Amino acid sequence: MSNRSTTASHSAGAGRIRVSFEFFPPKTEEMEKNLWEAIRRLAPLAPNFVSVTYGAGGSTRERTHATVRRILAETALTPAAHLTCVAATRAEIDDVIRAYQAAGVRHIVALRGDPTGGLGERYTPPPDGYRNAADLVAGIKRIADIEVSVSAYPEKHPDSPSVEADIDMLKAKVDAGATRAITQFFFENDHYFRYLDRVRARGIHIPIVPGILPVLNFKQTKNFAARAGATVPAWLAERFDGLDEDAATRKLIAAAVAAEQVLDLVDRGVTDFHFYSMNRADLVYAICHLLGVRPTCKEAA
Ligand SMILES: Cc1cc2nc3c(=O)[nH]c(=O)nc-3n(C[C@H](O)[C@H](O)[C@H](O)COP(=O)(O)OP(=O)(O)OC[C@H]3O[C@@H](n4cnc5c(N)ncnc54)[C@H](O)[C@@H]3O)c2cc1C
Repeated sequence: MSNRSTTASHSAGAGRIRVSFEFFPPKTEEMEKNLWEAIRRLAPLAPNFVSVTYGAGGSTRERTHATVRRILAETALTPAAHLTCVAATRAEIDDVIRAYQAAGVRHIVALRGDPTGGLGERYTPPPDGYRNAADLVAGIKRIADIEVSVSAYPEKHPDSPSVEADIDMLKAKVDAGATRAITQFFFENDHYFRYLDRVRARGIHIPIVPGILPVLNFKQTKNFAARAGATVPAWLAERFDGLDEDAATRKLIAAAVAAEQVLDLVDRGVTDFHFYSMNRADLVYAICHLLGVRPTCKEAA
């Protein structure tokens, strides 16, 4: 079934749906203000965790730390700090892991990261660095008793020769100690379910949590998708056609598209969702509401 046809039979309910939100560390005071507005709006939804990205090549190392520390200090949320192993020695990465541990972080999203020259360039690990994400997961587990999530690619990572090679890498990450995978975003739910079947057939039984990207900006989404190896279906382009100068309508369409996608996933048995929030709360909040996820006072930031 395509995610174009919303069924009326979905049975969303707060009891069984679990959500998590991804944020990126802000560069300016204004962005910091936006981020914290988003965190305060979404925190009462009691997410399973909130993750904070790590800029390409470790470029946001300090800002990622600062954001994670502030979440720990000022909210009841559980932060998951992203960490990549590009362009850093094992010793440098191990220091970051120890610093996270000392700050009270109990969940890391472990990633290889993009090659320093950008995707398309062959990835070469630094001579004294972690070789890949599986090696990094093992490194984290050697240092600390920290929960580790990793990436998964329903439509294949652009570097990967095949979906099978991708699933081999996922298996290596799970064998090293990862207990959850979060997917790259996708717009056709069938990609996710086909991938899930292949992952399960390979004997991988950890949760494969769909990463949902609300399409706040269609042009930007197309660029992200091109780099991430995600397909942008023609029907999606059609829905945003002619709306480049009409932000208000784009937002309504984006809400409708994401609603169709998540409700179809719920109908087909998915209970956990990870939202790429882009540090904006409104669409994610509305989609969570549709999923039956309602504010609880306890978790308010
Ligand atoms: C949920 C999620 C969160 C992310 N967060 C961040 C972030 O915070 N910061 C950031 O910079 N990036 C982030 N990324 C992007 C990610 O860093 C890139 O996609 C990167 O190119 C791959 O890292 P990985 O850990 O997913 O790779 P891996 O899972 O290690 O590898 C991805 C695939 O590439 C193939 N591959 C790996 N190495 C080789 C090789 N040497 N030769 C041939 N094939 C190879 C394998 O088949 C593998 O399946 C995120 C991605 C996802 C899905």
